[in-house]
Amino acid sequence: MSATLPRADTTGAGARPAAFANYIGGQWVPAASGRTFENRNPADTSDLIGTFADSGPEDVERAVAAAREAFPRWRGLPAPKRGEILYRAAERLVRGKEDLARDMTREMGKVLPETRGDVQEAIDMTYYMAGEGRRQFGQTTPSELANKFQMSVRMPVGTAGLITPWNFPMAIPSWKMMPALVLGNTVVIKPATDTPLSVVNLVKALEESGLPKGVVNMVTGGGAAVGAPLMGHKDVHIVSFTGSTGVGRKVSEACAPAFKHCHLEMGGKNIIMVMDDARLDLAVEGAVWGGFGTTGQRCTAASRVAVHKKVYREFVDRFVTRAKALKAGNGLADPSAEMGPCVNESQRATVEKYVKIGLDEGARLAGGGHRLDQGAHAKGWFHEATVFTDCDPKMRICREEIFGPVVSVMPVDSLEQSIEVGNSVEYGLSASIYTQDIDKAFQAMRDMYTGIFYVNAPTIGAETHLPFGGTKNTGNGHREACVQALEVFSEWKSIYIDYSGHLQRAQIDTEVGE
Ligand code: NAD
Repeated sequence: MSATLPRADTTGAGARPAAFANYIGGQWVPAASGRTFENRNPADTSDLIGTFADSGPEDVERAVAAAREAFPRWRGLPAPKRGEILYRAAERLVRGKEDLARDMTREMGKVLPETRGDVQEAIDMTYYMAGEGRRQFGQTTPSELANKFQMSVRMPVGTAGLITPWNFPMAIPSWKMMPALVLGNTVVIKPATDTPLSVVNLVKALEESGLPKGVVNMVTGGGAAVGAPLMGHKDVHIVSFTGSTGVGRKVSEACAPAFKHCHLEMGGKNIIMVMDDARLDLAVEGAVWGGFGTTGQRCTAASRVAVHKKVYREFVDRFVTRAKALKAGNGLADPSAEMGPCVNESQRATVEKYVKIGLDEGARLAGGGHRLDQGAHAKGWFHEATVFTDCDPKMRICREEIFGPVVSVMPVDSLEQSIEVGNSVEYGLSASIYTQDIDKAFQAMRDMYTGIFYVNAPTIGAETHLPFGGTKNTGNGHREACVQALEVFSEWKSIYIDYSGHLQRAQIDTEVGE
């Protein structure tokens, strides 16, 4: 499917790079200004993937108008029919999976097994929400009055403005788009500027599956130029945002004056707790995958590990050895690469900044700590897998989201102390415990104030049919995925039908049988 798009020049032969447009009202159109921005491979910045529309408020205006116009007909289409279109889109994604994953590795940097997983999540969510076309269950319940029926039904909110990050370039857009669509909302999506191609590919799958014009619109460009006018637009009725807590706060503020529905999925500082009875081999493997999978650029990344003092030395030795052996590389050029680059220059600069902060705070740099910029790494934004040990939970490297390949290991005396440390940060997304003691596992399950919890598995690995999201500064009380996503993109209507033929007065005291 992505093959039907113009492909970028990777030959260096001087052909023009592919130019990708906005998708508005069923047409692929350039930005009103004619401006474009470049999308380059973070593992090899000489590889220009293509140019994308550098849009502004005028483009947002057109996209919202198209979504608004399409809304009555889309809402009027029976939900099972909407679900069928989604089902066809899922089938297309299945057929295109390998190409889509390769496009994603090229624009985002994570290695192929991970991008295949990202596309698979989009497939899973699309199938799941296709099924919701035949569910979207409401309630029926007995009335207080005779000859009266009552029920509740869902209705769409209207036009949804979706603002998405770069780390799950297709999965996260699908997590928002598919529930919004199956419920009868129309959509304007603004992808992250680092990863617009994966959203182009997702939109193309929907277009080729018969989605009517104007139901989904995509406007590429920067946060201030596109995201801000989108979330502030009077005809956008719900904003669903995934990204940093700082920008999420701005989204919340922009939605507040109009009481606009606002769904926020934000940062994390997730913890793995390793108890003295843990299977250490399992815990080490979990900490490596949780900490350095996706180069640590997951909202659920295990960037903190609290280890019981009785097994601390042994865990640290094994963990550092494994982290040092991780092979960073270009996922398309080197199939043995286990970890891709940081997504861009500024993300790597943030990692370097936090390495310095960790050193200044007195943490022990036990592995990594440097950029990789020689040989095969010379053209990308690579950084070593980095481990700080003997960390104090109060250090900034243990409290602030770094969003890179940096893990801070803290010694603890007990389960109670681990839980206290785990809950001490401003975020509440994911946590995990490694133990063979069921009592400890249940205590931690109960006491960790996070939206996601794992036992004997790392902090990453959510599935589409359980709710996804976090507490505290990670979210604002909503959840993505599962049926909970339907709550985000619908309103409830309670309906009362009186077939008694006379006036029955509810909320008026009457004798039974009167
Ligand atoms: P970001 O906040 O910088 O950007 C997210 C999106 O918001 C992008 O599309 C960006 O262009 C847009 N944006 C930026 N400024 C804006 C503004 N002023 N107005 C409107 N839109 C604006 O985040 P990022 O760097 O793309 O992603 C990394 C962050 O996302 C991390 O904090 C990570 O934890 C978080 N994240 C959270 C989840 C979750 O489900 N909780 C999932 C993935 C990523």
